[in-house]
Amino acid sequence: MSIQSVDLKCELCGFQSSTRETWGEFYYLHNELKIPINRTLGWCRQCDKICAIEDFSQQKNICEEIESLLSYFNNDYSQKKVLFISKKVREDRLFKLNLIQILNEQLKLISTRIGTEKCLNCGSSKIDSSIGEILSTMQDRIQHNTGVIGTGVIHPNCGGEIIASPSPIHITMEFTPRFYKRDGSQKS
Ligand SMILES: [Zn+2]
Ligand SMILES: [Zn+2]
Repeated sequence: MSIQSVDLKCELCGFQSSTRETWGEFYYLHNELKIPINRTLGWCRQCDKICAIEDFSQQKNICEEIESLLSYFNNDYSQKKVLFISKKVREDRLFKLNLIQILNEQLKLISTRIGTEKCLNCGSSKIDSSIGEILSTMQDRIQHNTGVIGTGVIHPNCGGEIIASPSPIHITMEFTPRFYKRDGSQKS
């Protein structure tokens, strides 16, 4: 799979980064469940660069997804019909059930962790997610532009503005999944 990324640069000092920082597979491992980590781009003061950071702003979407999956189970399978459920349908129902469990764990985790978001690179909570928030609102403008666009985000300790442009390279990348504990620190 090849998706286009956005190159980020400081107009003053040449610092470079990319939205590719958040690409890949990130999971919390908890009770043998692989819970996907919602993430955004942020400035980590400890890494002194743009990193993938935890994003706990998706509570409403997760609730909606759980409800929509649950509604699937409201179909009444009467005793008679049960014998005629195909293997495919049964497996699909089990898959959805498992997904509900994962989403519910994700929801519980977010509700206890909100306000303690961490850098997924070093585990520090000295982070600022404004670059991620701003870029998500600018996505279309950046992709349909051939030049660079100012993001209005200032490079800390430098004062230069971070500028964004669609990456000219389409890269196919393979990722090794990264695993974290519930508190957002990386599993060794
Ligand atoms: Zn700079
Ligand atoms: Zn960091």
